[in-house]
Amino acid sequence: MSAPPREAELLQILRRLIAEQGPISVAAYMALALGHPRHGYYMARDPFGARGDFVTAPEISQLFGECVAVWCAMNWDAMKRPLPVRLVELGPGRGTFMADLVRTLDRIAPDLARGAAIHLVETSPFLRRKQEAALRGRRVAWHDALGRVPGGPLLLVANEFFDALPIQQFIRDGEGWRERRIDWDAAAERLVFRAGPVLPGAVPPALAAAPDGSVYETGAAATALADEIGTRLAVAPGAMLAVDYGRRVPAAGDTLAAIRDGRKDADPLGAPGEADLTAHVDFSALTAAFDRARARCWGPVTLRELLGALGIETRLGALVARASPAQAERLKSGARRLIAPEGMGTLFLALAATSPGLSAPPGFEPPTLR
Ligand code: SAH
Repeated sequence: MSAPPREAELLQILRRLIAEQGPISVAAYMALALGHPRHGYYMARDPFGARGDFVTAPEISQLFGECVAVWCAMNWDAMKRPLPVRLVELGPGRGTFMADLVRTLDRIAPDLARGAAIHLVETSPFLRRKQEAALRGRRVAWHDALGRVPGGPLLLVANEFFDALPIQQFIRDGEGWRERRIDWDAAAERLVFRAGPVLPGAVPPALAAAPDGSVYETGAAATALADEIGTRLAVAPGAMLAVDYGRRVPAAGDTLAAIRDGRKDADPLGAPGEADLTAHVDFSALTAAFDRARARCWGPVTLRELLGALGIETRLGALVARASPAQAERLKSGARRLIAPEGMGTLFLALAATSPGLSAPPGFEPPTLR
């Protein structure tokens, strides 16, 4: 007899959990579907690239990592070049971003490249092996959580990491806002959403009178992480750059989505462990967490604005000048995709945080008064 598919095994685990505890939170569902040690989505597969479920900025173009290298080098200068400095990435996927970043540092900031210790925060053993291959020959340490990375001067980057962290959802009905939970529907034989008890004070007062059926999301895990990064930046010199899609201001809306083969599944509960799960990042909640931690927060700016300020056009020109016609075409189409005004370029936002004494990082300068 062949082993049941992973999806079925994870579904059994979720059903058992629900049978024991009652309906589970959206956060618990997300955490298991993505991170269950054996059956979680990220644990045993490569979801990225042309044949995978989704394509990320560093997988689209080397220009992403190259521009962020410029950002890191300039911040390190502003920090007065402390050594040692830790170069940390959260959720490095295939390792492409960090490989492009340090390859560029070798060239533009050799002192930083030599002195930086690379620390990768990654829970998936499968992806750790990919990262190891991408960074062969470099000194790299892996950690399950940021808390394991030693303190001190810090340059931290994260692309499409915060959107994979578990969120809670609340749903409005005639009586008020209730926590949204996930239950097993035995008749339909599938997971379904179920409204939990009314929770006064769960959503901002401005949304108290939202129409029935409205959904509001909070990301306690993302906020806790911002708090942790902010606290590090408050006590040692450092800078963080996080790129993700999301909203600038708190708003109602159900953004939990399952992504498979580059498309959104109709039902985010349909295939736990087999599809990626994401939710829009609430940038205002992150900003507030950095402020509370006494770090300085900058932006968000669009990905297009950030890469433009970091010289993507100039770098593209330099690469194209020595590329074959086919390579040149690939480089140009990759760059166009990253900065597309009606696509990634404006859907993705970049948020920076720095130690309190530092001035605006490149790409985040406030507009000058004229
Ligand atoms: N930054 C990469 C990949 C983004 S996908 C890119 O741009 O291509 C999310 C990454 O975060 C994966 O590597 C996944 O395994 C990792 N991940 C997800 N949740 C995590 C968690 N709670 N702790 C550490 N890593 C996590």
